Amino acid sequence: MSHTTSSIDCYCGRRVVIRTTWTDENPGRRFLSCLHYDVGGCGYFDWEDPPMCRRSKVVIPGLLRKLNLVNGEVKKLEDEKKKLQQINKKLERSNKMLRRLVYAMPGFFFVLQLIWISFVAGKDEKEAGATPLMIA
Ligand SMILES: [Zn+2]
Repeated sequence: MSHTTSSIDCYCGRRVVIRTTWTDENPGRRFLSCLHYDVGGCGYFDWEDPPMCRRSKVVIPGLLRKLNLVNGEVKKLEDEKKKLQQINKKLERSNKMLRRLVYAMPGFFFVLQLIWISFVAGKDEKEAGATPLMIA
């Protein structure tokens, strides 16, 4: 129910408020009421708009129900979007870590190759040193 202020005063001397009702009997019909209508107020009430035709009383609530369904779907999609955005953030973090690993791989293999070469070279030197020299 929305409202704006009118230039008319209610029984308590305050400006009345223009509100809109969305009941099936009066969908979208505006009325004047006390500012404190929601909690009782002074009881001032008057219609701002004329009575609605029978067709409007059927069509407008139907449209409102469809609008509510669509809004519900939009809300579900927004919730799903938030979940997917959170998953996307996690995947981006994982992707960043994997990318760092991939960039570090050549360096890792280079060091591994140096270790292997020094191991093989050391083994060759041991074998060369262990072989007795045959001097005649
Ligand atoms: Zn009042």
